[in-house]
Amino acid sequence: MKPAPATAAELYKRLLGYATPHWRLFFLAVLAMALFAATDTGFAALMKPMLDGNFIERDPATIRYVPIVLILLFLFRGVTGFASRYIMSWIGRRVIQQIRQAVFQQMLRLPVAYYDQNPSGRMLSRITFDIEQVAEATTNAVTVLIRDSLTVMFLLAYMFWISGWLTLLFLLIGPVMILLLRKVSKRFRQLSQRIQESMGELTQFSEEVIHGQRLVKASNGERWQEAQFAEVNERNRKLHMKLAVAVGASTPVVQFIAACVLALVVYLATLESVTHEISVGSFVSFIAAMLLLLQPVKRLTNINALIQRGVAAARSIFDLLDEPGEDDRGDVQLERADGAIEFRDVSFAYDNSHTRALESVSFSIQPGQTVALVGRSGSGKSTLANLLLRFYEPDQGGIYLDGRLIDEYRLTDLRRQIAMVGQEVTLFNDTLQHNIAYAHPGQPGDNEVREAAEAAHAMEFIQQLPTGLLTRIGDRGVLLSGGQRQRIAIARAILRDAPVLVLDEATSALDSDSERLVQDALDRLTRGRTSLIIAHRLSTVVRADRILVMDQGRLVDSGTHAQLLARGGIYTDLYQLQFREPSDGEHED
Ligand code: ATP
Ligand code: MG
Repeated sequence: MKPAPATAAELYKRLLGYATPHWRLFFLAVLAMALFAATDTGFAALMKPMLDGNFIERDPATIRYVPIVLILLFLFRGVTGFASRYIMSWIGRRVIQQIRQAVFQQMLRLPVAYYDQNPSGRMLSRITFDIEQVAEATTNAVTVLIRDSLTVMFLLAYMFWISGWLTLLFLLIGPVMILLLRKVSKRFRQLSQRIQESMGELTQFSEEVIHGQRLVKASNGERWQEAQFAEVNERNRKLHMKLAVAVGASTPVVQFIAACVLALVVYLATLESVTHEISVGSFVSFIAAMLLLLQPVKRLTNINALIQRGVAAARSIFDLLDEPGEDDRGDVQLERADGAIEFRDVSFAYDNSHTRALESVSFSIQPGQTVALVGRSGSGKSTLANLLLRFYEPDQGGIYLDGRLIDEYRLTDLRRQIAMVGQEVTLFNDTLQHNIAYAHPGQPGDNEVREAAEAAHAMEFIQQLPTGLLTRIGDRGVLLSGGQRQRIAIARAILRDAPVLVLDEATSALDSDSERLVQDALDRLTRGRTSLIIAHRLSTVVRADRILVMDQGRLVDSGTHAQLLARGGIYTDLYQLQFREPSDGEHED
């Protein structure tokens, strides 16, 4: 129980750390708030001359100045209110912009393993929902906290001035309210935390359906998805209702207690012995001040929920920001590698898996060589590629590029040496031009992009598009066929012009025409580069300088196509199952 509030204070402190550069503005806002708060007391105080002077004594001077003061008072109130809100929003939005940018940067820096273990919906809701909650806490909550506390202080001081003992009586309520708040705040905190988790769930679920909508449609998954979503949705509603009860109940209870006190004060103040001490004007002023206290006190009790929400959101954001990024401790610079690759006794298991995905894998590739990697599904082929790109760190053994451990290079330098064409082609919702140029280290010219697209046999279909390379390809490239997407990815790799090529061939069956085009594009791509090709095509396998055969994370065999076939074993099985081309295949091999 004890560390929780301390942590909340720490979180708030850290949050305020973002605001400290703007402290001058903040003081200006506080000044505006103080002046704004004073207008409430001013209004209450104005009751006294209004009643005593205007109505009872009918003093001509007072009759003239009271209305003017009233107008000026509210004009002043409007200006200071606007100024304080505007400045606080300005600071708040700055802070939010900064935190949002930091969260986004952190998303870019987080290792692949983090993404394996954290649902993307939760991460998305952090950058959208959680940060807005923090915005509320930094602007609205702080405004209310400062402005209303000052209002309460001023009003109380004024009330004391009118009648000390009546005010003391009124203050008896204080401890009762604080006690009540303590109880409520804990509940708020727990509920806010759970609501945030629930929002993450909602986002996650919707996102999956949006991304997987074709699968959902094709497998008639609508009803299942709907039912699942209804459950998540219902959970979210229930949590919000619980919060509504907590928020809704706290206000009337506080107000009711206040009303009881008001009744008591009215009763006591009108007792014979008191009336002669206080004029009618003073008494009305006192009551006005008391009534004016209600709103700020009410807001101050509600503010707790807001702050707790902000703290819960800040916690989840700071947790994310505190996650260690990718390990980039290497400092060796590398302009362009020769491309000698060696795996030395590499073993690796994914964090959430009991079995090793790779077990003592050793092999080496000479610069410029093309090595094909074959093996059953799940044998660890993509894992090898993941390790080479340092998406994950091996548990044992080392991976060497040009005779140096890849950890020793700067991460950007290492990755610049490698062009990766993955199993799934990732395309951004942008023009084809931009998608092809994406992996290029610099700013490629239009001609370079065009040449790369031509070499990848992508220009053939790009030309037929109405706006050519400037065509936008829709969300994640849905407007392209599988083979077209692959050729875009190949064009991208050609343009990247890295000394090492890692290719995770898509298993998607291409028709023989695009197969031939893709193959031809690949030939051009591998020329002069060290190529590690996870092969699903016989043509690739046969052309490779060497073939590595993997099974259950182990390297079980290696050699040329002919050698391996002659030896029998897994490769022969694979060949018969996977690589045997239909008899009308267009391959010259
Ligand atoms: P395929 O030919 O189907 O692409 P593959 O040989 O590329 O298969 P890998 O993707 O390397 O296989 O997977 C090797 C093993 O590691 C599999 O058992 C798989 O379940 C597991 N695996 C892969 N990625 C992860 C991950 N991110 N987290 C946990 N386990 C994983
Ligand atoms: Mg794979």
